[in-house]
Amino acid sequence: MKVSGEAHREGFCSAPASCVRTRPPTRGYVPELQFQTMSIQFRVESTMGAARAGRLLTPHGEIETPVFMPVGTLASVKGVPQDVLEDLGVQILLGNTYHLYLRPGVERVRRLGGLHQFMSWPRAVLTDSGGFQVFSLSQLRKVTEEGVTFRSHLDGSSHFFSPESAMEAQIGLGADIIMAFDECTEYPAEPARVRESMEMTLRWGQRSKKYFAEHRHEVPWGRQSPAPSAQYGAKKVSSFEVQVSGKNHAINGKPENEGSAPAHVGAAAPGCPATQALFGIVQGGMDAKLRKESAERTVEIAFPGYAIGGLSVGEPRTVTREIVEATVEHLPSDQPRYLMGVGTPEEIAEYANLGIDMMDCVLPTRAARHGLLFTSEGKISIKQARYAGDDGPLDPNCACRVCTRYRRAYLRHLYASNEVLAQVLNTVHNLSFYLDTIGRVRHSIALGEKASFLSGVRSAPKP
Ligand SMILES: [Zn+2]
Repeated sequence: MKVSGEAHREGFCSAPASCVRTRPPTRGYVPELQFQTMSIQFRVESTMGAARAGRLLTPHGEIETPVFMPVGTLASVKGVPQDVLEDLGVQILLGNTYHLYLRPGVERVRRLGGLHQFMSWPRAVLTDSGGFQVFSLSQLRKVTEEGVTFRSHLDGSSHFFSPESAMEAQIGLGADIIMAFDECTEYPAEPARVRESMEMTLRWGQRSKKYFAEHRHEVPWGRQSPAPSAQYGAKKVSSFEVQVSGKNHAINGKPENEGSAPAHVGAAAPGCPATQALFGIVQGGMDAKLRKESAERTVEIAFPGYAIGGLSVGEPRTVTREIVEATVEHLPSDQPRYLMGVGTPEEIAEYANLGIDMMDCVLPTRAARHGLLFTSEGKISIKQARYAGDDGPLDPNCACRVCTRYRRAYLRHLYASNEVLAQVLNTVHNLSFYLDTIGRVRHSIALGEKASFLSGVRSAPKP
């Protein structure tokens, strides 16, 4: 009988080093055999008001929450190699299904073992469903109950995404956490339109879950693994289950020994949950009542985690905050909450304060490429001539590899000269600043120090 540890050493498991738990078990961990039947495990360790600090265990490593997830749209955080991302302490990256579906194509990534192996990233990955990009980037889209027909922003070719095909794509890409296919409601929108859109997202969420339940075993991790019967005897295991704070949620509504056994579940290494986790997405526009209804009905469908979508689409920030607050209170307190596509450093801290566990945003990386840098003293536009002779560090309070080595004058020169290194260094600093910000927030929650919660993370414009 081949044990899963051998599977890992022999290369059946696509997850390199971090897949093997290197640190000793800590409070709250469940025995390894149970890990093999799970997609993720989440534990809240401390709270401060609505804010919580916790840990999320994924098939490719442990994540401390609240967490900021850098965006690696095309299996790359633009300008930053994976080893540097590891050094920066990035625990989970986000990939965009829409972009990866168009280039290099899901089938190619799947044949190469999934995103982790393709991009040589041993830690966790989350993919979005493609819905947001379809609605924001593609042209000539046509939305029906079945799905969305759209034209590629690259070459105008016609494509179709449905809940089923979005799940198929995300299973092929093989991220640790994948998202239900949803419709991102535009802003502003009429009340009737917001409800109609929310209802469709709920139906699409059910279809996403159904397809995922039937196909989750097709994840490319360890495709060469022996059949489960060879590893576990006659016992069938359900991987579509998550243990949260000691409670088991059978989210496919079936007993553990019912249904088809995942063919490759045994390929996961000891200490690693074995399968992907599908998160549901709450919509409902800027209507707090619809958000409540969407949250409650999405929770009824039952997912191991929940995202809040459809925000940061042009609404005032005060509205974003109100809607986040109005939604969070209707999500389970013992499951991860993911706020999609936000925000500035102070917003990241603010949303964590409201009880959000996971966030992503293109802002630190995109702004960096345009010379806009977040520092403890406010935002800096490094392209400005006033920095041409500035021999100080970019941020005297930042200990990142850029701030401890280079001067503002050099960074300004690189940017003004259009050197590739400008994008690299600027991105490294901005990511460091975001990760440092969320790290301080996490630390404050753990210490229960509300007073220091937002200190040192302000990025108000420099006077
Ligand atoms: Zn720095």
